[in-house]
Formats: sequence, structure tokens, C-alpha cells
Amino acid sequence: MAYPKTVGVLALQGDSRNHLALLADLGVTGVPVRTPEELGKVDALVVPGGESTAISLLLSTGGLLGPLRARLDEGLPAFGTCAGMILLAREITDGRPDQHHLDAIDVVVRRNAFGRQVDSFEADLEVTGVGGDPVHAVFIRAPVVESAGAGVDVLATIAGADGVDRPVVCRQGPVLVASFHPELTGDPRLHQLFLERAAG
Ligand code: GLN
Repeated sequence: MAYPKTVGVLALQGDSRNHLALLADLGVTGVPVRTPEELGKVDALVVPGGESTAISLLLSTGGLLGPLRARLDEGLPAFGTCAGMILLAREITDGRPDQHHLDAIDVVVRRNAFGRQVDSFEADLEVTGVGGDPVHAVFIRAPVVESAGAGVDVLATIAGADGVDRPVVCRQGPVLVASFHPELTGDPRLHQLFLERAAG
């Protein structure tokens, strides 16, 4: 199955460089997206980790918020990691009141869900649709999904401090989100999962 021709990586703030490197490893043309013109040229978009409040502010001041919402409404495939997952959600809890979200996947996401004491940690996850060894996941001030709509597939979960399993990888149509940073480990399998569906 062919991958999308041109995959954008939102590059307003946060970790766009490692995503671009992973896309290049997969033989895909990855381009940084900072303007509506650049957004207009992509067939799919990665929304990276970073700080969702900062990315939200830069989306609105740079004039990308409206065009991005419109592309997502039309079915633009999108892959949000960490802050990107927060931005793509239907609802954010523990966000800033003025923080925008893109309503591209029917999940309610809690920011910084693992608490201040646990700033970052790593875990091996079984992810539905990803064959082979478990995915080694790096969580950095990570969000979790508090609730997912009926149309959302939960592909991986992790137990929080309270012992309750919550989703950390979800998919709805062409939109994939992950709480962690798959671009940091050099493992391309989450990106492949995204690109296969984005092409179909
Ligand atoms: N906690 C950050 C936020 O709210 C996300 C952290 C990350 O992307 N690593 O945006």
C-alpha cells in the first residue's frame, strides 16, 4: 500500500525534527508546516509533542487554526503525539481556559495526567495493530484519555497511579493519537500504522 505523498509535521513549537527524520527513514517526503500555504500542500499531518498551550497560541496568532480545522473536517489524516494528542482531542481537562483544541478525535484528554512527581517514565506497551515486540514508549509530562467515544478504537492502555487502565493510543478513522513520543526511540511502527491508514 502506498503511503501519502507529502506528510507535514506541524513545526510551530516542540519536537518536529525527530518526526521528520523518522518519515525520511520510511522513504516519505516530510515537510515542516508553519503557514496555511504549507498546510495546503500536505496529504497528512503529524502534530508533535511539545507544549500544547504554546502550540495552541501559535496556531491562532499565525492564522493556521481555521485552515487546520477546515482540513481536519475534510478528513485530513493526522497523527498527534503527546501535546499533539491534546490538541486533536474533542475536550481537554486541566487545560488553560483559552487553550484551543481541534476536535478531530472523540476523546477527552487530561493533561499532565501522571502527576508532577512523575514527570517522565518509560514503559513497554502492546499496541493493537503493531506486530512484533512491545513498543518501548517514552512518556514526558504525558496526557491520558479519560474517555473515548463509541467510534474510537483504543489500541493501547496503561495503568495510572490509581491502578486503573486508561487509553494511551487511540484511533478514529484517519486520526491516530498517542500519549507518548514514538519519534524519540527510532521505532517507526506507530508512524507506519498511521501512514497505512492515511493512504487507505
Ligand atoms: N504536558 C504537555 C502539554 O500539556 C505535553 C508534554 C509533551 O508533549 N511531552 O502540552
